[in-house]
Amino acid sequence: MTFTKLSANLTPIEDTVFAVVSKAKQAKEEIGSEKVVDATIGSLYNENEVIVAFNSVFNNYDAISKEIKAAYASSFTGNPEFREQVANWTIGQADVKLASSVIATPGGTGAVSMTFSDILEEGETVIIPDIAWGSYALMATDKQLKSKTYQMFDGNSFNIESLKETVLSVIDQQNRICIVINDPCHNPTGYTMTQKEWEEVISFMNECSKKVPCVILNDIAYIDYSYDLNNSRKYMETFNKISDNVMVVVAFSCSKTMTSYGLRCGAAILLAQSADLVRQSEIVFEKSARSIWSNIPNAAMKNFSDVTTKYYSAFMLEKSKYIDLLEARSAIFLSEARLCNLPLYPYKEGFFITIKIEDNEKRNRFHDALIKEYIFTVKVNKGIRVAICSLSVEKSKGLALRLKTIYDCLDQPSII
Ligand code: PLP
Repeated sequence: MTFTKLSANLTPIEDTVFAVVSKAKQAKEEIGSEKVVDATIGSLYNENEVIVAFNSVFNNYDAISKEIKAAYASSFTGNPEFREQVANWTIGQADVKLASSVIATPGGTGAVSMTFSDILEEGETVIIPDIAWGSYALMATDKQLKSKTYQMFDGNSFNIESLKETVLSVIDQQNRICIVINDPCHNPTGYTMTQKEWEEVISFMNECSKKVPCVILNDIAYIDYSYDLNNSRKYMETFNKISDNVMVVVAFSCSKTMTSYGLRCGAAILLAQSADLVRQSEIVFEKSARSIWSNIPNAAMKNFSDVTTKYYSAFMLEKSKYIDLLEARSAIFLSEARLCNLPLYPYKEGFFITIKIEDNEKRNRFHDALIKEYIFTVKVNKGIRVAICSLSVEKSKGLALRLKTIYDCLDQPSII
């Protein structure tokens, strides 16, 4: 007997992240945090292993009046000022000539989730990367969708052939195609696609759109930590070439950009050639917003608009120090990994680096062996994620060699 609907999936969420995070916490209490390498946490942490909360963001937030914090937003699609500023902040920094609309969402999660359910019919298949943020697959199941994965990599490049094969394997069975591309600063590998790889994706989706309308969901959650920040939106100019039958939905997250994960705010930016078709989608997205979360915290939207305009310089300066820190941490890890031949997926920038272990059974044994050495990481499909966003420079040093030594011992027979 169940009270939930018959089709509900009753298997508990296997939250691999939270389970290992609590093990790491316990280890710190038992043996002291200096002896523990905790590379589990996916938020930005400073060198003292404390979550970063930008002054430029939260001083302004604290100064927002309680009446503004108390009030509803002025629209289900978000406050006009916020919507305009999100567009400026994301697509506005590239020369994007498409019709557009912005829907405020509770984080990037809301934007991804509403896109899945508003684009695809129940039973249809969403196309996601094989190495990916776990929530995509969870969202698909929750919405009675199927998901099919494309391989992220062919060697050190984006695997366009696998994306093509995967899309073509479902295109004749559904009314719409929806693909997810988490770029730049892919979670969990830190890969960023080249302009040419994006051009190939666009041209392929244009071909597919001769059969059915196609949606490219571009999840840009970590974009504001790109190492080449000034050119981080340049690839969006490839969107100008989408056919009339293709829409791009850019999922933006204030959580990462502003270090405000708990202040649920983000946006879905709809882009297409036709303003009428964007408006049509906006109507549908607005109704989803109204029926699921109603509206987004008023003060969170105001804060984003203020910080990225009035306090722009202070914000960018503060954030740039942490981008430098991510670069420093990743440079140490990458150079040491190269020296000891620790296999990695192609990292370019962002919060995470992933060790390549294609055999998930071996990955599990590796993960267990690391825990025994008080090194805490997160298991992802075909790999182990090292969250350099929360790992100090000091603890990044020597880590690659420790990992490689443990990795090499995995298949050695025990001497005892
Ligand atoms: N997309 C990716 C790839 C993520 O890793 C996350 C968060 O971890 C999100 C989207 C959504 O984050 P939020 O809903 O907090 O904006």
